[in-house]
Amino acid sequence: MHIQQFENHPNRHPNFRGCNNSISRHTLMLIRTHCTPMYTINMHIFFKYSLIEELKNIIDLLTHKNKYANLRSVIYPSLLKFITSSKIQKRRIVQIQKVWEKIEPQFGDFLFKQDLYLEVSKIVCYVHTFGCEGWFDIDKNEIHVRTEESSLKNTIDSIMHETIHLPTYTSEATYKEREDLVEKYMQMKQIQELLVI
Ligand SMILES: [Zn+2]
Repeated sequence: MHIQQFENHPNRHPNFRGCNNSISRHTLMLIRTHCTPMYTINMHIFFKYSLIEELKNIIDLLTHKNKYANLRSVIYPSLLKFITSSKIQKRRIVQIQKVWEKIEPQFGDFLFKQDLYLEVSKIVCYVHTFGCEGWFDIDKNEIHVRTEESSLKNTIDSIMHETIHLPTYTSEATYKEREDLVEKYMQMKQIQELLVI
């Protein structure tokens, strides 16, 4: 089952695999208790631009307009931007990586100390030119952020926001509850300090 959640879209996936986290969380607690706590601290985000992912995004934008109608910030596809996006995004990835590599160890440490365990420590973040500010795919442990018309600081904010969705996701929570929970973490001092870019 392919599961994604788009920002601001209410309860798109009510049948998410429930409390699947219970086993991995328990296992991870054991790891944390008995082993060197390296799991989340060693997290790494790989930034990618994928034409296929962008095309999937564009098709979704064009075929599910209602879904995006209430989102606060959406960029719809344009041919000109699409033609140039590969080159621009590759340049942006370099800029993002430069900032992110300084933040990542502290962010991983933050997740670990908050008991936010990622199912996989290597996460792919696809950068996009179109769409809403960001979304995540809980099944694939992927995140997506739109860099177009977004400052570097805002993009970094989105990367952290979407990443925190992964370990905090539960189908039992409403969309608002999920967002409120992520925002609670985002407002914490340690995160806000990382956002002084
Ligand atoms: Zn969110």
